[in-house]
Formats: sequence, C-alpha cells, structure tokens
Amino acid sequence: MNSKIWLSSPHMGGNEMKYVQEAYDTNWVAPLGPNVNGFEADLQKYTGTKHAAALSAGTAAIHLSLILLGVKAGDEVLASSFTFSATVNPITYVGATPILVDSEAETWNMCPIQLEKAIKDRIAKGRKPKAIVVVYLYGMPGKIEELLAVANKYDIPLIEDAAEALGSRYKGKSMGTFGKFGILSFNGNKIITTSGGGALISDDQELIEKSRFLATQARDNAPHYQHSHIGYNYRMSNIVAGIGRGQMEVLEERVAQRRANFEFYKELFSDISGVSLQEEPSKDFFSNFWLTSILIDPSKTGGVTREEVRLGLEQENIECRPLWKPMHMQPVFEACAYYGNGVSEELFEKGLCLPSGSNMTVEERNRIKLALLKVFKK
Ligand SMILES: *Cc1c(COP(=O)(O)O)cnc(C)c1O
Repeated sequence: MNSKIWLSSPHMGGNEMKYVQEAYDTNWVAPLGPNVNGFEADLQKYTGTKHAAALSAGTAAIHLSLILLGVKAGDEVLASSFTFSATVNPITYVGATPILVDSEAETWNMCPIQLEKAIKDRIAKGRKPKAIVVVYLYGMPGKIEELLAVANKYDIPLIEDAAEALGSRYKGKSMGTFGKFGILSFNGNKIITTSGGGALISDDQELIEKSRFLATQARDNAPHYQHSHIGYNYRMSNIVAGIGRGQMEVLEERVAQRRANFEFYKELFSDISGVSLQEEPSKDFFSNFWLTSILIDPSKTGGVTREEVRLGLEQENIECRPLWKPMHMQPVFEACAYYGNGVSEELFEKGLCLPSGSNMTVEERNRIKLALLKVFKK
C-alpha cells in the first residue's frame, strides 16, 4: 500500500527547536515567558494588528471575544452557518443563542444580504443581536467590505474567525484586522501549527490586556489570590509559543506553497468539465489557499459525484474530506434560527477539500493526479 497522503499535516521550518530549547534551558516552562511575548510580537508584525494575545486555542479566543463584548445569557449572536462547529460552540458557552446565516456562492463565506435580512428580522422581534461571527473558509476572505457596512449600519460588533485564514488578505490588509476582534488558530492541521493554540487580535489595547487577565484566572492585583471576575485558564504555554516563533519564520513560504497547490489543481481540472474551484473573485482577494476545495456537478461530469471522487481517492490512500456540513443542518444546532437560501446546502452536497499540505511532494501530486484522472475516466 502506498503511504498516506494527508489533507494537511504539520510542516516544521527548522528553527522551532531552537526556541523550544531556549525555553527549556532558561526554565521558562510555563504559560508565560519570552516565547509567548515574542510570538505575540511576530503576529502583530505579520498581520498589522496593534495587539495580540497568544492563547491555548482558537476556540478559547472566540469565547473570550464574546465575553469581552459583553455577550450574556439570553442574548443572540449571528454566525456563519457554513463553518466548523468551533465558530459557533463558544456562543453557547456564554449562554447565548446562535442565529445562523447562509453563505454567498462566490467566496462561500457569510452572505451580506442574508446577514442584513437576519438583523432586520431579529430587531423586528425585539432581539437585536449582540455580535456577528464571520468565518473565512479554507483561507478565502469573505466580502468583508459589505459585511462591515451592514455591521456598522446596525452598530453590531464583528468578530472575524480567521482560524483558517492566517496569511490571507483583502486589498492588502490581513484578515482578522477588519472587525473588533480577529481570532487565529495554530491547531495541528492549520497553515502553521504550534501543535495546538490560538490567538486573539485587536487594535484595542484595553480589550487585549483584559483578555490576558481573563485567560490567566482573572487574578486581581494583590499579594494574595484575589478575584473579582470569573477567570479562565486559556493562556498559551511558552514551550508551544516557541514552536510558533519558528513557524512564523516560514509562514510566507507556506502561503506560497499552498497557493502553488491551488495552481496545480486548477491546471489539472482545466480539462475536466463539471469541476469548479473555490477561487478568488477578484484581485482584491488574496487567499492563503489553506485547503484547495472543489465543487463537483454530476450533471456536467458525466454522472461522477462528489462521493465517487472521495471514495476513489480514499482507495488510493489519499485523504480528502467533504466541505463543512452547515451548522443549521447539525443535530445540535437545528433548533437555531437560520437565514439563507440554500447556498451552503448545495456547497456541502457538491464540495470536497483536496490534499493541500505545504509539504506535498511532486511524487504525491502525481499520485493524486492519476487517482483523479482515473475517477473522471480521463
Ligand atoms: C480550527 C478552527 C477553529 C478552532 O480553532 P482551535 O485552535 O482548534 O480551537 C475555529 N474556527 C474554524 C473555522 C477553524 O477551522
């Protein structure tokens, strides 16, 4: 059996161990230290945000952003329906109710028209939403100008779930720096990884300082342990942050490698009818192409379905995965209000994420190519 080709696997740059060794040698083996500070500085420089807090996970960053915006039990929060559950779960951690919004067909991210429709309807029901969580799937920036215009019109703060979009930009500005907060993830399969981890970014110094306070058990300034707020244990470890510093040195290279994967697939599918890719709608959009994703339309492929492609690749020991199953279709969220017109359902039905690791070899690409050509009988 051929060795497994993964959807996206960790890809170390080489200097990670230097930072980890430094932490070990200086005994900074704690959820604070020079690597945590250095990693935060690297993130600020790279994204252009004024402030960043390194945390234990992207999910923790979303949770803290909601707390910092004052979202409380009984409130409503708007969120992209077409996403990974970690975008929406934290809304329930604060006792609020998710209100799910569909995607538009161009970027696959939150539809500004459906967003406004949802806001108007919630306001008419006397329940103005407290925040909006927008996601950028597979690295593709959403229609952020339109989304921001709607958010500003109704004065609702925007949180950008840029967990998959580190290195992506709109008109040259990093995703995660448009809203009140951006969140990043460094989980094992993301474009760079610290094994696990996340960050909260914002231009608001006070809020980021408060996030660090809440993330370290909310200890008041006193010689004894004094608490006037509920705290969390959400800070990033100094060991893990060392991996992050090494990874930041190669992030631009990783973006280029993932973009090259996209070009490889685009070329490959140029003579297969019925397959389209998630593509940048214009030069304003710059995706890190974390995962190259396709839609398969059986009415144009001569009957070949998404499932056949998935199984065909699986047979060759090549990992691939259907697109995210929308949250409004998930048993755990099906009671939530949903505003949409079928875009994300169709994406889920026809879509597939293809192997997109930055460490993919020429030989692996050839195997993928042959497997795909076999499925499409080319
Ligand atoms: C990975 C991911 C998260 C969660 O990040 P963790 O660091 O794994 O907690 C949130 N949202 C999206 C869209 C993700 O892909």
